[in-house]
Amino acid sequence: MSDIDLSENHFEEKRRENGMEFYWTGHPFVDAGLAAILLIAGKSKPEELQKEDVSKAVDFAAELYATKDWSSSYLHGMIFPNSGIVMSNPSMSKKRSPENIAQNLWSILEKTNATNPDSPTCIICGRKPAYTGKEIYLSVFPLLGTGGVTNYFHSANPKGADICAHCIFLTQFLPLVSYRLSRVLVIHAYPYELMLELSKGALDEIKKSKLASQAKGFRIPENFLFHLIGEITRKVERDEFWENASVTLYYFICNLQNQVLDIINVPNPILRFVAYANKVDYVGWRRIVAMGWKGKPSEAEIENFERERRNAVYSRLLNYESILPYFYNLKERKVNASWNLLAFYCKEVAGLDKEALEFIKSVGDRIVESIERLPNHKLDDEVRSLERAEKLHQFEAFFIRIEKVRQNLGIEKPLMTFDEFTKILTAYGEDVNVSWKTVRNLLLFRIYEKLHDRLIKSDKSSEISEVLEENEYAIFGGEGE
Ligand SMILES: [Zn+2]
Repeated sequence: MSDIDLSENHFEEKRRENGMEFYWTGHPFVDAGLAAILLIAGKSKPEELQKEDVSKAVDFAAELYATKDWSSSYLHGMIFPNSGIVMSNPSMSKKRSPENIAQNLWSILEKTNATNPDSPTCIICGRKPAYTGKEIYLSVFPLLGTGGVTNYFHSANPKGADICAHCIFLTQFLPLVSYRLSRVLVIHAYPYELMLELSKGALDEIKKSKLASQAKGFRIPENFLFHLIGEITRKVERDEFWENASVTLYYFICNLQNQVLDIINVPNPILRFVAYANKVDYVGWRRIVAMGWKGKPSEAEIENFERERRNAVYSRLLNYESILPYFYNLKERKVNASWNLLAFYCKEVAGLDKEALEFIKSVGDRIVESIERLPNHKLDDEVRSLERAEKLHQFEAFFIRIEKVRQNLGIEKPLMTFDEFTKILTAYGEDVNVSWKTVRNLLLFRIYEKLHDRLIKSDKSSEISEVLEENEYAIFGGEGE
């Protein structure tokens, strides 16, 4: 073994001994703390962290945590009630100072390797012995129960939970990358590069205001996330950024009255779709989202709606429900976005294969080719019959009408071959994800895309929109009757 190897090993050994060895664990709260330390140090890899980086983070946190703004309403009221480590316990107010908090933080880190032969392994990182100096309750690790009231213990472990000093230490930095909405929002993401990117805004705001990040005034966690994805996509050019990404939102509050946690998982296809939408058809995507609010926000109102109101498009995406009907505006008979974006959605999110999509598109084009030769009022009739098709037999009848139109107009080639006709009616009929209603929505999209100008001219009646409004949310693929 060379001298260099020896010295490197020695260095590694030392880092391990004094608890300076850092790594991602997969636990949202511990990883959030690590993200905070990395961001403060301006580094992206845990193994690059040095003692001075940790020192910088400790001082930064201690300075803030000692202030009244942080201590009582945020730390005590929402994250670490009665904590002795960050001194959020109201009885400690006299002794609370940056120096004392920093000292507490260091003393936890120092205990990382304090070995007790009986000590079990940490349930979070699986590497270090559990901390045995004190029971681990909600005051040092959020949402862990109160200790005195044992029926609140999920683990039924009278010592709280077996968590090592190293993981406890990191968790103390979680408030620095959390967003303060009505509750506390921690964004856990993989790859970790993405997590740093999604958490950075919180720390930047804290540096400026010395107060907890207000998430730009957003009140609904998923709205804030979708906003962040847009921002990041427009900033980060690389396509592969979202390739294998996953994001989970932890939206919690932990105080003496309340311990609540909502977990919102954002599946990879949704992330890629939203990123793609922001990049390829931002205006179209905004129109789709705008339809997800009741009461039609004006362009100027959108920002406020986005901050304060739940959006049906976001909820549907997160619940694996189709958003196809939001791609077009039924009342105005126009499309909201490009075919490109629709195609990406169908393939990546709705699970419709490329070939099927191309087939439906070509049928759509053949329908357009037939009905565009009709006078306005006839054209309106035909499109209306498709818009109104709520049952499979009505959908079938539409194709038969179009076939007759072609014959009357003397178009030689039939609309579809028998095989195609069967395929469009039955191949997608029973599929859970892609039903005939999906096909119908795609056909309508294509028709509006190509014939919008003529359709608004012929659409004089308001009767149709009333009927459609009732059915608007029950007509897409994935929801059988
Ligand atoms: Zn651990």
